[in-house]
Amino acid sequence: MSTGLTAQLPSIVIIGGGPAGLMAAQTVRAAGIEVDLFDAMGSVGRKFLIAGKGGLNLTHSEPRPAFDARYRERAREVGEWLDGFDADALRAWAGGFGIDTYVGSSGRVFPNDRKAAPLLRGWVRRLRESGVRFHVQHRWLGWDDAGALRFNTPEGERRIDAPATILAMGGGSWPQLGSDGAWVRPMQAAGIDIAPLQPANCGFDIDWSTHVSERFAGSPLKPVIAHWQDANGIEHSLQGECVLTETGIEGSVIYAISADLRAAIARDGEAMLWLDLAPGRDAERLREALDKPRGKRSLGDHLRRQAGLDAAKIALVFEVLGRDAGSDIDLLAKTIKRLPLRLLRPRPIAETISTAGGVRLEALDDALMLEAMPGVFCAGEMLDWEAPTGGYLLQACFASGLRAGLGAVTWLSAGNPPREIGQEKMVGRDGFEPSTN
Ligand SMILES: Cc1cc2nc3c(=O)[nH]c(=O)nc-3n(C[C@H](O)[C@H](O)[C@H](O)COP(=O)(O)OP(=O)(O)OC[C@H]3O[C@@H](n4cnc5c(N)ncnc54)[C@H](O)[C@@H]3O)c2cc1C
Repeated sequence: MSTGLTAQLPSIVIIGGGPAGLMAAQTVRAAGIEVDLFDAMGSVGRKFLIAGKGGLNLTHSEPRPAFDARYRERAREVGEWLDGFDADALRAWAGGFGIDTYVGSSGRVFPNDRKAAPLLRGWVRRLRESGVRFHVQHRWLGWDDAGALRFNTPEGERRIDAPATILAMGGGSWPQLGSDGAWVRPMQAAGIDIAPLQPANCGFDIDWSTHVSERFAGSPLKPVIAHWQDANGIEHSLQGECVLTETGIEGSVIYAISADLRAAIARDGEAMLWLDLAPGRDAERLREALDKPRGKRSLGDHLRRQAGLDAAKIALVFEVLGRDAGSDIDLLAKTIKRLPLRLLRPRPIAETISTAGGVRLEALDDALMLEAMPGVFCAGEMLDWEAPTGGYLLQACFASGLRAGLGAVTWLSAGNPPREIGQEKMVGRDGFEPSTN
């Protein structure tokens, strides 16, 4: 049901209260411009809070330009955002809330308490004190024919006309936290070029036997070296850890290489992944060890003693070679050093850490304003870039939120939109008093 009123806010409207939207709100408000921030959920920053469950990996200590290269094809564009807000700036910003950070052994940066809630609480409190108005339970539906923003609220549909809007509605993963990618449709309908949302930092399905899927789901494989090929057929290797699942494989080393694996599946219908189950063991020495007489011991026991494999790795060897895996020692040693796995499909977006795809950067100007819709800016994961886990995701969300916020401030300060905002009549303003979280 629509209230039939269109409220005209003489403020910048921000839609989406994740890290990108909140950073945009902070930036706009710091310039003295009124901010109304809308979010579909009953509170803001839910995905940020969930990120805190894993320790809140805020950013990474890797120096630039290696840092920028994590954004792959978008390294140049994201690098420009980072010029305005890099990892040091992010750490200093967190420090402004009394949240000190440290660099972990992997180079990842975490708050000392590894929690998101204190940082989010402090941030929202400060935004509120600075005058940012929060409107929760406002789900953006798109634009009406007159260009007003349409929101679904518990009281029915509301329409709001704003001189400038920043869209920061996230990607499509973990939709229960509010970012469900439903913005794609209205934006496409408005003619905006959107790359389809795709799983990123995701696990993959493998056609396991019942034995592996039932007995070894949840078993970690550590350490392993993953070998895979990129789109140019060039082989790469990465050491890390992963986990067997009922349907396939996931975990940090898989997430890190998921973009190449996903692309291979899209291109070839499947992707090959090879795992070295015994990193640090020389192939020839391993073969010699396996060649030792095993007496009455089972092959599994022999593999445990001579190759140092645990039960999950042994199960994978049998999965690939079958029960008479011990009949050819050369093949056995080669398989342990390069276990072939056929990946069939990425896991569904709802399960993944992040999504690739989104508003194509070519549809935006340098200030992250939509070329086709002057006054509408975009930020965060809803833009078409991707990066591995490691803090690179949040870093780009913060940096793009800042850039879009600055862009909107500059645009308004330059006298846009052309009409006289100050003379606009406020209609139904009372209906928009904050239903805050
Ligand atoms: C389990 C998990 C752990 C993670 N851990 C890390 C980590 O440690 N480090 C890291 O760098 N990244 C991590 N990420 C990724 C990171 O959290 C996201 O990339 C980041 O939150 C995206 O920020 P954003 O502001 O673009 O969008 P979001 O944080 O998704 O926020 C978008 C907001 O928009 C709102 N919204 C969506 N649609 C609408 C609509 N139609 N109308 C109104 N409001 C809407 C949502 O309710 C939400 O509040 C993790 C992700 C997950 C799922």
